[in-house]
Amino acid sequence: MSDFAARVLSWFDVHGRKDLPWQQDINAYRVWVSEIMLQQTQVQTVIPYFQNFMQRFPDIESLAEAQQDEVLSYWSGLGYYARARNLHKAAQQVCSSHNGIFPNDFDAVAALPGIGRSTAGAILSLTFGQRHPILDGNVKRVLARHQAVAGWPGKTSVANTLWIAAEQKTPHTRIAEYTQAIMDLGATLCTRSKPLCESCPVSADCLARIQCSIDQFPGRKPKAQKPLRKTTMVLASMDGQVFLERRPETGIWGGLWSLPELGDCSLDDWCDRELGVAVTKAESWDVLRHSFSHYDLDIQPIVVRIQSVAGTVGDAKAKTWHELDAAPPGGFAAPVKKLIEQLKKSEHVSHR
Ligand code: SF4
Repeated sequence: MSDFAARVLSWFDVHGRKDLPWQQDINAYRVWVSEIMLQQTQVQTVIPYFQNFMQRFPDIESLAEAQQDEVLSYWSGLGYYARARNLHKAAQQVCSSHNGIFPNDFDAVAALPGIGRSTAGAILSLTFGQRHPILDGNVKRVLARHQAVAGWPGKTSVANTLWIAAEQKTPHTRIAEYTQAIMDLGATLCTRSKPLCESCPVSADCLARIQCSIDQFPGRKPKAQKPLRKTTMVLASMDGQVFLERRPETGIWGGLWSLPELGDCSLDDWCDRELGVAVTKAESWDVLRHSFSHYDLDIQPIVVRIQSVAGTVGDAKAKTWHELDAAPPGGFAAPVKKLIEQLKKSEHVSHR
């Protein structure tokens, strides 16, 4: 047995949790239900749910035969309801494919809905004492800190490194106790914030502690790059005015006054359609980037200076010529306001 496992087990013998409801009358079904409930949920929250669930569904058969609505009602308040739906589906599979007996073969367990590698390992080691490493959220945190494994564990290469560490540290004897012990260590000592290193049995060689960099492990999820969308906005200017459109009520900047967007239209066609003029001169300005919470928008401004237009602009509630020096006709979105200010400055310069 590795020194790491020996220390964790000695600590467990004194401090580990041994009286949780699923640690009594141990069988694969009870361990499985508890492991699923404990995903994303704290022990204290799980206990009453586990007890009620077991009272109503004491075995795989009773769960498989229940209506999904009833199973969900016993999950109500625990959240992540896919867990309950998968549990129910898996119970039905165990009844149809395994004669109602929870399998004790790793591949068969891992093939059931809602059971990944770590959960399969935990069920088999806790129930049958089979040697399988586990890597739930608590264990990831302990190992990432103890070994100073950099990077976000959601990344395959980081997860692989952690799985190798988990495999190396799992002893060949006292498997069930070690599995419980390493989970308990993560849940009670090596907590997300303010870990209790002074009480930790593996603190002497914990690299993160030695390097004073505990808060860097495990690495955080990198921020997803936002998608980039592009649009072209027309600044049609005539005699100290700019042409504006009111945006539709739905969608971004709903109901605000804005510079018209070209969309799929060419500038020539747009000027002809909207203003009844031919473009003689157009000027592209630098792209302006605007960030929304879910995407970035690159706005390509194009300035068209017009001498005069024939007739009116049509629907006055949706389209207007706005005097650059006058108060805005309504709200402007920030980038539109910026472009109008820029146009105003350029107009004053060009009129000097
Ligand atoms: S020494 Fe601290 S950081 Fe390292 S494993 Fe123990 S509790 Fe976690």
